[in-house]
Amino acid sequence: MGACCRMAFPSCLCSVRALTTTTLLCSRPVEGSVFMETPACPGLLSLLQCWVLPCWPPVTMGIPVFILAGLLVHFVFLASIFDIYFSSPLVHGMTPQQTPLPPPAKRLVLFVADGLRADSLFELNSNNTPQAPYLRAILENNGSWGISHTRVPTESRPGHVALIAGFYEDVSAVAKGWKENPVEFDSVFNESKYTWSWGSPDILPMFAKGATGDHVYTFCYTAESEDFGAQDATKLDTWVFDHVKSFFNSSRSNQTLFSALNEEKVVLFLHLLGIDTNGHAHRPYSKEYKENIRKVDEGVKEIVSMLESFYGNDGKTAYILTSDHGMTDWGSHGAGHPSETLTPLIAWGAGVNYPQKVTSQLFEDNFLKEWKLENLKRMDVNQADIAPLMASLIGVPFPLNSVGTLPLEYLNNSNHFKAESMFTNALQVLEQFKVKMSQKKRTTLSFLFTPFKPLSDSEQINFLKKARVYIQQQKYNEAVSLCKTLINLALEGLSYYHTYDRLFLGLSIALSFVGWTTYVILVIIKTHTNLIKATRNNNKESTGPLYGFTFVGMIIAFFLLIQTSPWTYYVYCLLPVPIWYAVVRELRVIQDPAANLWSFPIGQSLGFLLICILGIELLVFSFFYRSTLTVGLLVFAGWPVITQLWIQAKRTTLIWTLLCVLLAVFPLMPVVGREPNIPLVILKIRRWWKKRYNKMKLKCQVAAGLTTLLISCFSLASFSRSKNKYQSKEDLKVYFYQMFSIALSTYVVSSTHNSLKNKQGLPVFNQIISWTTLASSSALPLLSPTLLFQRLFSILLSLMATYLLLSTGYEALFPLVLSGLMLVWIQMEQEALQHYGLSLKPKLAVFNFAYATDITQFRQLHLDDIRRSFFFVFFIVTAFFGTGNIASVNSFDPASVYCFLTVFSPFIMGGLLLLKVVIPFLLVSCAFEAVQVTTQLSSKSLFLIVLVISDIMALHFFFLVKDYGSWLDIGTSISHYVLVMSLTIFMMLMNGLAQLLTTKRLELSRRTKHHST
Ligand SMILES: [Zn+2]
Ligand SMILES: [Zn+2]
Repeated sequence: MGACCRMAFPSCLCSVRALTTTTLLCSRPVEGSVFMETPACPGLLSLLQCWVLPCWPPVTMGIPVFILAGLLVHFVFLASIFDIYFSSPLVHGMTPQQTPLPPPAKRLVLFVADGLRADSLFELNSNNTPQAPYLRAILENNGSWGISHTRVPTESRPGHVALIAGFYEDVSAVAKGWKENPVEFDSVFNESKYTWSWGSPDILPMFAKGATGDHVYTFCYTAESEDFGAQDATKLDTWVFDHVKSFFNSSRSNQTLFSALNEEKVVLFLHLLGIDTNGHAHRPYSKEYKENIRKVDEGVKEIVSMLESFYGNDGKTAYILTSDHGMTDWGSHGAGHPSETLTPLIAWGAGVNYPQKVTSQLFEDNFLKEWKLENLKRMDVNQADIAPLMASLIGVPFPLNSVGTLPLEYLNNSNHFKAESMFTNALQVLEQFKVKMSQKKRTTLSFLFTPFKPLSDSEQINFLKKARVYIQQQKYNEAVSLCKTLINLALEGLSYYHTYDRLFLGLSIALSFVGWTTYVILVIIKTHTNLIKATRNNNKESTGPLYGFTFVGMIIAFFLLIQTSPWTYYVYCLLPVPIWYAVVRELRVIQDPAANLWSFPIGQSLGFLLICILGIELLVFSFFYRSTLTVGLLVFAGWPVITQLWIQAKRTTLIWTLLCVLLAVFPLMPVVGREPNIPLVILKIRRWWKKRYNKMKLKCQVAAGLTTLLISCFSLASFSRSKNKYQSKEDLKVYFYQMFSIALSTYVVSSTHNSLKNKQGLPVFNQIISWTTLASSSALPLLSPTLLFQRLFSILLSLMATYLLLSTGYEALFPLVLSGLMLVWIQMEQEALQHYGLSLKPKLAVFNFAYATDITQFRQLHLDDIRRSFFFVFFIVTAFFGTGNIASVNSFDPASVYCFLTVFSPFIMGGLLLLKVVIPFLLVSCAFEAVQVTTQLSSKSLFLIVLVISDIMALHFFFLVKDYGSWLDIGTSISHYVLVMSLTIFMMLMNGLAQLLTTKRLELSRRTKHHST
């Protein structure tokens, strides 16, 4: 990518640097090529030649083609995961199944308290009074209760889909955005006669849109009302309660509405967003969150009594209260922590069991004791079981794609009814299995098809017959347990067919992966080392491999064709063919040097290989345990001592070691926005610590701002003391403006913090400053001189100002320490270069980015350059996990964007959080750019090594991807793979951006004097 960026500006191309990198990858025509003979050729020409020439007869590709191919290959790798693991499990074309017996209820009221944790609802207050007195009384006197276990991702949309449609939404839906429906699906609402719903515009429309016909009505407030800041979020809930009441009042004067409300199979859905909003803004242990629960409790009480009087206490109304997901102690959700996946479920009214007194219950957790509910039967369900429960209460068909099992314990009905309902449930799940199987059968060659044995056609008939007979003989319990077995088998079979192609697709992707990495390694060996002394001009290309590979490709394509596979399968299965073809061709070129390889000292090579493997393993481990980074950084601290570097540069070594150790502290700190998971026993200490921590946070930010200011004053002094006269007036102006904006940011952070604390909202003045700082920070470094340290420092100042505004605590200090280390790194690399006697030491102080391309010929790769690239990857990963920022993008901590906006807006918030993650990356990338130019290596060669390292890591994670175990395990393993994959692409982008930031210069006023040296 680096070279590509340079090529976009042909004026600076007529330099050795660009030329070497260009010719190096055009490989074949090295000796007799046009480039070497006419070094002064116009850039555009060489660009053109590179595009056209190399792809013609010669062997390897040109840079743009290589980059394009690399991007394409990685894109396929990335997309394949979504296709292999995240394809939609839904099938269509099933017949609806309904219990033949009359249902107990005529209507159902569903309350979903968004973001309500199970323990927050069930726990008693410190004075032994319940948090929600009305609901507590219900579960003690006339309802059933339990915990509903949700799956990951614990987000509102998947949660509601599981509740109302009965299936767990796959991640493909999440990837396609939560507001629209990626796939059509059936729901309890759709099956109902009428559904009226009140609540958030993010949730309701999704069930109205999917419904056939005009029978699902929604009443939403505006999106702007979801203010995370000063406003009172309980208003979102009172809005819903008030509107339900006035809706029923108005029906008394509206005859059509009145009769519709009195129909059977009616659903009323109240979506209560206040608790979620308050939880995000104030955390679940806050007064606001708890107060909101009390408000909801009161609201539910009022609605119930209103409905009972409206329907004249006919005893035909069933009520269910639950939530879509929980919330962590730090006010976020999305992941799989118990605080997020455990949600309350309380059901009462028509058809629902009364409380069952028990003497002892067996649960692994301690909740019953904590909540003082030991004597009331707790009935846990999976979130998707609630949909069949609702369907059976009002007697509508189970939603077609539901994978839930009817929780019979909740039903207050005859055994016959229970058995019939369970039978219907089994039929409905089996129906999906059958459709899925026939789909797979159709697209697989008959001799390759291996059916799901436990549920063959005859087995299915057996099961159903037996169950029917049991019901006829009134052996209801046997019928129920048989149906449960059938449901489990059908679900197993569903996932069997859903993952049918996984192994074979995975293998072909792995094959491409190995091929691609091998190819890149070959390119490095061929073009950037002196292993090949003379390129053999083998004009007699044998066409054997070409025909061979074409033949293999055709056979694969033929097989896919007769199986009528989707087009993506062609991409995955055919990709290895051209990649391995390229590898085979390259292999022929380096055949000779391969023989030479054995002349290297074996011991040394093996040791080096071992260190390489260890290093990559370390990086892989750091994805699971952040503290691994600490170990790595401590090893880095000792690096100059091990390699004897410290003898020649004692002072630099000392600073290096110090900064390494300092940076090693950050991975040990808790993830930003999260307090460590201390056991509940020391809850009080935790709360005390949290208070302390919250106070400390602001201090950290202010300290970071002040330190930056202090350092910039010092460096200004040292810059002006140094021999090259410090810049013109304009440069000084820019510098002072940057210092000023740091000071301003520090002020904005603390003033916003105080104003939000006093519930005064975000001052407009602060907001304006924040956005101005953000906008100016990308342009300002471009105005400063391109001298190495001055430019890097200017970049730091600008990014620091933005980062301060986006930080919430100690992480404000992170970029400061990181960039300190980066500056020393540049010097250390200089020393290392000298240590190995590779080049003369250019003066770093007068080094200029803009003329970096003018220095002498770039040298060949050395083994030490692999270490150099490894350092880069390691620092990038450190930037990634140093403060655990990536986690706060996932689990969304809105506190970090409070200086910019407080109204909920997912795109702007996401963008700002992304920016926060990118800033440390940019710092590392800019430093690496400096390392490249000062150590006289073409960015291309170093970058290729980086590519290999990250690709090996990605392959590692590809093998670690699981298709078994808990949903959480699967999700984590896949997200690791996606992270590493995007890391490669991301680093390419960062590299380009870093080059722009370091080399380009904008002139405020046209000056004739260009530079001061
Ligand atoms: Zn939610
Ligand atoms: Zn939420």
